[in-house]
Amino acid sequence: MGSGPEIEIEVAQTLGWPRAVHVDPRIGWPNVPRETLDWPSEASKLEASAKAPPAPAFRPPGPRRAQFDQDEFAAPPSEPDVKVSRETAAEPMFPAPANPRVFVVANQKGGVGKTTTAVNLAAALALGGLRVLLIDLDPQGNASTALGIDHPPGTPGTYEVLLEGAPIADHIVDSPEAAGLKVLPAAIDLAGAEIALVSIVARESRLSRALQAFLSQHEVDYVFLDCPPSLGLLTVNALVAASEILIPIQCEYYALEGVSQLMRTISLVKGELNNGLRLTTVLLTMYDARTRLAAQVADEVRQHFPAETLATVIPRSVRISEAPSYGQTVLTYHPDSAGSVSYLAAASEVATHGAKEMT
Ligand code: ATP
Ligand code: MG
Repeated sequence: MGSGPEIEIEVAQTLGWPRAVHVDPRIGWPNVPRETLDWPSEASKLEASAKAPPAPAFRPPGPRRAQFDQDEFAAPPSEPDVKVSRETAAEPMFPAPANPRVFVVANQKGGVGKTTTAVNLAAALALGGLRVLLIDLDPQGNASTALGIDHPPGTPGTYEVLLEGAPIADHIVDSPEAAGLKVLPAAIDLAGAEIALVSIVARESRLSRALQAFLSQHEVDYVFLDCPPSLGLLTVNALVAASEILIPIQCEYYALEGVSQLMRTISLVKGELNNGLRLTTVLLTMYDARTRLAAQVADEVRQHFPAETLATVIPRSVRISEAPSYGQTVLTYHPDSAGSVSYLAAASEVATHGAKEMT
């Protein structure tokens, strides 16, 4: 090296490399003689780990959340919060419909909140004292997971009903989420149903027949059909079996793009296979109050569906997205969260809307 001044600086011992360096200011980079290299001994490694700084406070990944979610930055509770009684309320909180209401929760766009809406509305109505059945028509089985039902490959459920003509009653299971809530689970085997159904007689009406037989023998107030993100035979079966359509719409750009296609499928099914089908409910989901876009999408949806769009809007909420990993709905996972409160309000609107219509 050259003849410029050299500065000796100490380096933290616990880092171990090197103990001292001679900085040559002309090149601005330490000139480290190889022989000074001193890798940490086992003892100094232990000392270093003992002095390790505390882990940073938990902060959920992803973008900052909306204002109403600020209180939700805390770490998730180690034990799920179960303040909402899992027993059926003694007096129903919601009016029971005169006849069973069968909702198909459909939107061929993926990830818009179909499953989240189906499971949370189903659980809210059941916790409110009503008898509710959820039929999982998605091979992903997300609704089964969210309602605490294990569904490894081979789990009997929707596949057996659609393909083998099994009665629904043979394969429904109780959800631990609420006393009055039953689930017909779906497993990955259902993925083969789209193709297997093609060659089966009355392939679009398999679910409808099974459901009518079930409803004629069992007292049920609400049925929710959770559809996969496609307009294939599984969704068509749900549209034929249902009396009402609930479309969840995510408050994001592109939200309305798939809806016109869905409306065409609905009118085809209505004309050919199910005259009684009506679009009664549109629910705005994942609303982020900080963005102007969310408000614009909400306005546009309300212009298209003025009577059908619920006044309640579901906010984007950390707790809603965490709940399924505990096999729970947000209602039992975090009853005080904005997401839980909004799904309860939406359930109340759905229930009273139906009650008004019948009078
Ligand atoms: P798919 O089309 O795959 O069936 P989907 O329409 O059923 O999807 P969900 O599974 O309900 O959509 O939701 C997609 C993702 O968004 C999930 O991870 C869910 O936890 C999350 N999510 C749903 N609603 C909200 C919300 N209001 N706030 C935050 N996250 C949400
Ligand atoms: Mg889904």
